[in-house]
Amino acid sequence: MNKIILFNPRSANSKHRIPNSILQVGASIHNRYEYVFVDGNLENDPWKKIESYLKTNEFKYFASTVMPGMQLKEAIPFTKKVKELFPSIVTIWGGYFASNQYKSSIDSGFVDYIINGPGDKALPELIEAIEGEKDLTLIENLIYKKNNEIIKTKKSDLFDQDSLPPLPYDYLNNFYPIENYLGKTFLGKKTAAYHSSIGCPFTCSFCAVVPIYEARWKGKSAENIFNDLMYLKNKFEIDAVEFHDNNFFVSEKRVVEFSNLIKDKNINWWGEGRIDTLDKYKDESLELMRSAGCKMIFFGAETGNDEILKQMDKGGTQTGAQIKSFAARLKKFDIIPEYSFVLGLPAENDEKVAHQIEEDINFIKDIKTINPDTEIIIYLYSPVPTEGSELYEKVSAAGFNFPQKLEDWLSPSWEYFDLRKNPLTPWLKPFMVDKIKNFETVLNAYYPTVSDFKLTGLQKQVMKTLSSIRYKTNFYHLPYELKVLQKFWLHYRQPEIEGFYSE
Ligand code: SF4
Repeated sequence: MNKIILFNPRSANSKHRIPNSILQVGASIHNRYEYVFVDGNLENDPWKKIESYLKTNEFKYFASTVMPGMQLKEAIPFTKKVKELFPSIVTIWGGYFASNQYKSSIDSGFVDYIINGPGDKALPELIEAIEGEKDLTLIENLIYKKNNEIIKTKKSDLFDQDSLPPLPYDYLNNFYPIENYLGKTFLGKKTAAYHSSIGCPFTCSFCAVVPIYEARWKGKSAENIFNDLMYLKNKFEIDAVEFHDNNFFVSEKRVVEFSNLIKDKNINWWGEGRIDTLDKYKDESLELMRSAGCKMIFFGAETGNDEILKQMDKGGTQTGAQIKSFAARLKKFDIIPEYSFVLGLPAENDEKVAHQIEEDINFIKDIKTINPDTEIIIYLYSPVPTEGSELYEKVSAAGFNFPQKLEDWLSPSWEYFDLRKNPLTPWLKPFMVDKIKNFETVLNAYYPTVSDFKLTGLQKQVMKTLSSIRYKTNFYHLPYELKVLQKFWLHYRQPEIEGFYSE
């Protein structure tokens, strides 16, 4: 038998969303091969489930999506166990981690193949090749080892997203009721996650998407997105959507068409975009988007420093002044900007690193004065683990090294690396990390996140009063009183780690 297990390792402690990556891969083999879904987010003991399937002797393939961060904690040990206990099973990895860390993954000896980018064609063709012993080198987007040499096949063009087979929601529903993936968030009572596009046309130097999609982007048509969402609304009564695209707003035309289709359907939505792209949108488009349910948009603001923005290769047009004026512009349309900042970039010496952190903190405070509803997300800069890239060489030269062995990624110090809270970069000294974290604590107390619908008016008021002297006098040192209240009274959440508050 040649059945396939499609595995989604646990990616969060709560807030489980429709596993779009394995759903899309499932679509590519649906009605061609027999397969099952195993979602680590919804299984108490996912290994037990995987093992029970493998013991039937009906399975030949174990395919796992592997994103950096939490998913490694199941992907690595489970794949290893599959190989040890069931050596004839073919193991396949996909996802950003697998593509960007392909060398250590393949060298581990327990990952047979890596789908390097979209798997819509690569996975069915790989199975076809193994079953029929066809030539693997003709399959695009594939990495594997032959005679001790790592073979990387050609990257495919991005596929027309409308030509891809429909997502097998009903089939997934047989394994895990879709209901269980629809959380209550500040957007709505039943929030679905959806991918409407792949890739991104930009080349920000710190972004893991760039080496995989090489500045390419392809989106589904507005009509197709609308049809999928209407299916989810009619069948599962969704009332909100998070678009988990890397860049949902690339095409104003598509966004306007989608807004016109969805506007009377009572669905709130959120997506990720670029400030310079959306700042080019017409006022009518922004107004239409808001009336069509767009409540909040995530933007990589990164920093207020124009020089650093250039170094980050943000596409060249985003400036500190624009970040500010755009926050004011969105306020007029009642769309909340969710701005993420990246602090702690390398500089020639400690003073310069510390000075830049100070400047960014002041910049963030300016944004809050301009539009107090702006959600601020602070990350610490962590290099993108893309082997062979220019930046990879640069940060290696500065004394930073990624784990050489796949299993080293499981060590506690690397566990939170991807959450960009613990970057392990030698130029960022502990006192700098403390300053950033303490500022964040004071900021979150003075301006509690608007997306946490559980916070009461009283809680917000108490935190604001308690933190106001610190905030106004720039005194962030050791804010224990705020930390204790945030932890035990507010059960405060950090959107950058946990996403919107969800239950
Ligand atoms: S715009 Fe966003 S998704 Fe696109 S390359 Fe830059 S950081 Fe990555």
